[in-house]
Amino acid sequence: MTDRPVAVVTGASSGIGATTARALAAAGFAVVLGARRVDRCAHIAAEIDGIAVRLDVTDQESVDAFAAAVPDCRLLVNNAGGAHGLEPVAEADVEAWRWMFETNVLGTLRMTKALLPALVASGDGHVVTVTSVAATEVYDNGAGYCGAKHAQSALHRTLRGELLGQPVRLTEVLPGLVETDFSLVRFDGDAEKAAKVYRGLTPLSADDVAEVIAFAATRPPHVNLDQIVVKARDQATATRTYRRDT
Ligand code: NAP
Repeated sequence: MTDRPVAVVTGASSGIGATTARALAAAGFAVVLGARRVDRCAHIAAEIDGIAVRLDVTDQESVDAFAAAVPDCRLLVNNAGGAHGLEPVAEADVEAWRWMFETNVLGTLRMTKALLPALVASGDGHVVTVTSVAATEVYDNGAGYCGAKHAQSALHRTLRGELLGQPVRLTEVLPGLVETDFSLVRFDGDAEKAAKVYRGLTPLSADDVAEVIAFAATRPPHVNLDQIVVKARDQATATRTYRRDT
């Protein structure tokens, strides 16, 4: 797999990460898929001639071991993340907030720090970070997730300046509603609550977002797509949607 440029995708066991791994392989990358459910990654890796390596972005030892298995890297997709809970600040669950900040923010920090030397050394590196419309908006009951995505976005955008002059591009992808396991995770496995999030509208699919990431990754080295907001037509803002009667 060494003759192809190497792309690392975090959170590649499901949703946007899984479809991004497939889209990048189709675009000619050798993909290294990382997540805690490495069996799922291995299944996808076998289909796309990639490799699967167990990764917990909240655990520095796991990140170090992952990075040691990836000596060359041209593209890092910081996708691992998600939300836990939907409560007002007055009733916030501190542990849920800790999970969101550890995974979305510190996970992105750990992975970016670990792979930056290889990205720079490649001579044509690229970091894509999947944040959210929650990185630019706030909504009632969403302070934990919005706070984490704002912080993840700030980290990513800061790098754009710090790496100026280095051969590394930086792209932030900010999706709106995408139908994945995201809401199932957010509502702790409550499928009925999760389904309600998408009821009456046509959300984005994980493939829709993967195609955007693959497009950004396949521009010529001098072309940097800084920020890409991608939403369903039925969604105007984080909270304003059009729902048909169901
Ligand atoms: P998903 O299907 O739940 O996927 C989340 C992925 O993150 C899984 O592969 C999961 O893998 C991984 N992950 C979670 N904790 C991890 C950890 N500690 N270490 C490594 N991997 C971890 O949801 P998704 O919608 O595809 O989410 C992908 C990204 O898109 C997230 O950053 C999310 O915030 C963002 N996003 C989603 C939406 C949406 O509406 N779906 C909208 C905007 C932004 P394991 O559990 O196997 O570790």
